[in-house]
Amino acid sequence: MVDVTESAESEAQQTLHRVFGYETFRGEQEAVVDHVVAGGDAVVLMPTGGGKSLCYQIPALVRPGTGVVVSPLIALMQDQVDALRALGVRAGFINSTQDFDERRVTEAEFLAGELDLLYLAPERLRLDSTLQLLARGKISVFAIDEAHCVAQWGHDFRPDYLALSVLGERWPDVPRIALTATATNATHQEITQRLGMPDAKHFVASFDRPNIQYRIVPKADPKKQLLSFLKEEHAGDVGIVYCLSRNSTEKTAEYLCRNGIEAVPYHAGLDAGTRARHQARFLREDGLVVVATIAFGMGIDKPDVRFVAHLDLPKSVEGYYQETGRAGRDGLPSTAWMAYGLQDVVQQRKLIQGGEGDEAFRRRAAAHLDAMLALCETADCRRARLLTYFGQEPQTAACGNCDTCLTPPETWDGTVAAQKLLSTVVRLKRERGQKFGAGQIVDILLGRKTAKVIQFDHDQLSVFGIGEELSEAEWRGVVRQLLAQGLLEVEGEYGTLVLTEDSGSVLGREREVRLRKEAAKPASRSSKGER
Ligand code: ADP
Ligand code: ZN
Repeated sequence: MVDVTESAESEAQQTLHRVFGYETFRGEQEAVVDHVVAGGDAVVLMPTGGGKSLCYQIPALVRPGTGVVVSPLIALMQDQVDALRALGVRAGFINSTQDFDERRVTEAEFLAGELDLLYLAPERLRLDSTLQLLARGKISVFAIDEAHCVAQWGHDFRPDYLALSVLGERWPDVPRIALTATATNATHQEITQRLGMPDAKHFVASFDRPNIQYRIVPKADPKKQLLSFLKEEHAGDVGIVYCLSRNSTEKTAEYLCRNGIEAVPYHAGLDAGTRARHQARFLREDGLVVVATIAFGMGIDKPDVRFVAHLDLPKSVEGYYQETGRAGRDGLPSTAWMAYGLQDVVQQRKLIQGGEGDEAFRRRAAAHLDAMLALCETADCRRARLLTYFGQEPQTAACGNCDTCLTPPETWDGTVAAQKLLSTVVRLKRERGQKFGAGQIVDILLGRKTAKVIQFDHDQLSVFGIGEELSEAEWRGVVRQLLAQGLLEVEGEYGTLVLTEDSGSVLGREREVRLRKEAAKPASRSSKGER
């Protein structure tokens, strides 16, 4: 019996055991591997940590020739190749970090058929010399990693990826496998079309990460909020804290250290030695917190990251999902925690409007931000929202493991509040020809005679003091939610508030506005609470 099952084992399964030392394939892996080994094209959508690498590594080992892997993550190639070599896989890479001799050696190995896997940066494939090199060797499979980079409407477009359609044209007989962890339906279709893979079979794993608890809290004093989150729920745990600016990663890391939490900063402005040291510590140590810009984490595979915290708003839901996805790859309970405030929205809008790129690019960036905002302000299950965003059907309407499920936010009829706020914006514009940011608008509503209110005679406006029933924090919540609902917009360098096309329906009393009350912290955590 034993002999029969063993001999019935496919070459792919043997490779899984023998080379990688794993018992069984996970999820869609086996189906993908079988399809590609048989020579078919595949588009694979799998969340971070889902095990995409094996999907092309095993076909590369099973099929004759070298598997060519296109990856934008140049900084990780050395590590990936080292890890494969440690398993006895003959792997190499060609990128701009190498000197001439190193490249020559790898090229010779490839041509001699001595490589199982060859990693290349996408820009390499724009060079004729690379295409000629590839034409002189034997290729088993092309793997296109981070395939969403080909999508112009995605959040991470890289023009070099557009040139990859050449692979299908020049090597029609070599199977191609495109892989990504982030794809909405639109991006998914764009990948298929731009890479020219109309006949590819699609493998879409569930994007649900049930062990990750999603929480988004209003930002008040972010460093302090982070500290109590860490002390109360993740003392001694490994985690990543994301900040937008290099400066704030350093300040936050210092602050955590001063308060008894081992933390190091990580951003592209640190010298290579420091970065490598901090990354190595993160991988090796049990309780280190890395405070990083998004430069950190891509391709880093640490299974026991217990939390990912955001102190600033990510630019897109794709980014948020990718970053939070670095938590809990081992399947154990983990937390995705974020503090988010009005200032984030103002700041991001400014970055978009003042940034590079054409009008279409800015519109896209704004749409990505709007989707992120809507996720922050939803009163519904965050997981259900996320899955719906990625075009997947949530299993239930309420997951029971996100803040809105654990402590359902109360909602209230905010129509009158919205009208008050919007009419203040209107008055300033019509009567004074002025635009102001949220701070001044809220001061006017609360009837505060601040220096700036006096300076502009805003205490003379008929709307002065008409909003005293709400607190400042509540008013800021109203502003955020009106932004998220598209009833208000932030504009320009100063983050001034302006009306949208839909604002009129609120002012004209044709529309009710439901708002959520600021949610409190969930009462308990089933898993961590026991510790
Ligand atoms: P992705 O590229 O999708 O983020 P990886 O390919 O890096 O994911 O895999 C994530 C982790 O899961 C790695 O540590 C990998 O070794 C492990 N892994 C992948 N497939 C299996 C499997 N079939 N059995 C056990 N562990 C696996
Ligand atoms: Zn939920």
